[in-house]
Amino acid sequence: MTTVDTAPPLDPQSFRSDFPILNKTIHDGKPLVYLDNASTTQRPRQVIDAIVRMYESEYANVHRGIHWLSDQSTDRYEDAREKVRQLINAQHRHEVIFTNGTTAAINLVARSWGDSNLKSGDEIILTEMEHHANLVPWQQLAERTGCVLKHIPITDDGQLVMDTVDSLMTNRTRLVACTAVSNVLGTINPVKQVIQRAHDAGAVTLVDAAQSVPHMATDVVDLDADFLVFSGHKMMGPSGVGVLYGKEALLDAMPPFLGGGSMIRRVKLDSFEPAELPAKFEAGTPPIVPAVGLGAAIDYLQNIGFDAIHQHELLLTKKAHQILEGIGGIRFLGPIPELKSGIVAFVVDGIHAHDVAQLLDREGVAIRAGHHCTMPLHKRLKIGASSRASFYLYNTLEEIEILGQALEKARSVFQRKRS
Ligand code: PMP
Repeated sequence: MTTVDTAPPLDPQSFRSDFPILNKTIHDGKPLVYLDNASTTQRPRQVIDAIVRMYESEYANVHRGIHWLSDQSTDRYEDAREKVRQLINAQHRHEVIFTNGTTAAINLVARSWGDSNLKSGDEIILTEMEHHANLVPWQQLAERTGCVLKHIPITDDGQLVMDTVDSLMTNRTRLVACTAVSNVLGTINPVKQVIQRAHDAGAVTLVDAAQSVPHMATDVVDLDADFLVFSGHKMMGPSGVGVLYGKEALLDAMPPFLGGGSMIRRVKLDSFEPAELPAKFEAGTPPIVPAVGLGAAIDYLQNIGFDAIHQHELLLTKKAHQILEGIGGIRFLGPIPELKSGIVAFVVDGIHAHDVAQLLDREGVAIRAGHHCTMPLHKRLKIGASSRASFYLYNTLEEIEILGQALEKARSVFQRKRS
């Protein structure tokens, strides 16, 4: 994950019209201010058109037919795989496995790699800031195998305590699985460093890149990541498609996870021979059209450029911090804007996160409230819930001002109630 601060500033107004949903007004004519992008993003017309085009003129099942339309569909699907390969700089196209999301990709690794490589007493290192998707599959693996889970602690301002990493590693450490960017704190983690330390200890690594691939340049070779996973819907692609990247040697040695059509070379009544990569891990009919939509989203993102996207989100994050600080009574979760991606999570003194979200919604502002699938992180921060505004390339400074005004209004509503 690399960022450079030399990109020219983005002007979201120059491409906002690509996103039909952003023109919506809600609740009696209030413009929709969509600040829930860490949950899922909106799609530009170019992605929607690619999906419609596919269904209208190129859709059939892939890798099956010996007919023209199936060849067309297969070409589009494999083109999308190549776009993903280029996006993350994987060495081989067959190292890119389409899944239906980050969660599915992590479960695939836990079931396939985990079940065949871990035994009782082996250790997995995670962090205190992981999404449930990067906790529960390993807890389930621990239940099946008796392996032990350890966690890299975080500081009060939401950064990994890197000093503890070496002491957590032992000669039983088999896997280190870490998020590249926290979906709550926004913290950009030093994953390259984590990977290096894991490799020094002989462990395999998995990067949960659900919140980083959509926002910053990713290079799996530079990172030396063994596995890296992300979802299409968080980067303007359709829901229902995600990616598991894995190094060829690891994927080759892993048994298939789901069994069925497409993942076999040969089947007898009592046995089967698995197919080569990537088909080995793509049982059944894959997410054909979602993958093509993801390919179109990658084109769109690359056209704008990740450096520009990151700089724009940093600008929005700084502005949000500045405005919210001015309101007072707000505790930010996570570090200073310079150390994070475009995610601003906070707790408002005296108002429950759900009430904050509801009051903001009345003003047309969509944010998320709750534990954001990170219950252990919220426990670590000694809170039950938080509110989270999260930005993407199409958000504007004016929208951050609307967020601030809506929050101020929410605070005064509650102050009136209390007095
Ligand atoms: N990891 C992180 C860091 C996430 O933010 C999310 C989505 N909130 C996931 C995993 C799970 O992604 P999905 O729901 O697309 O499988």
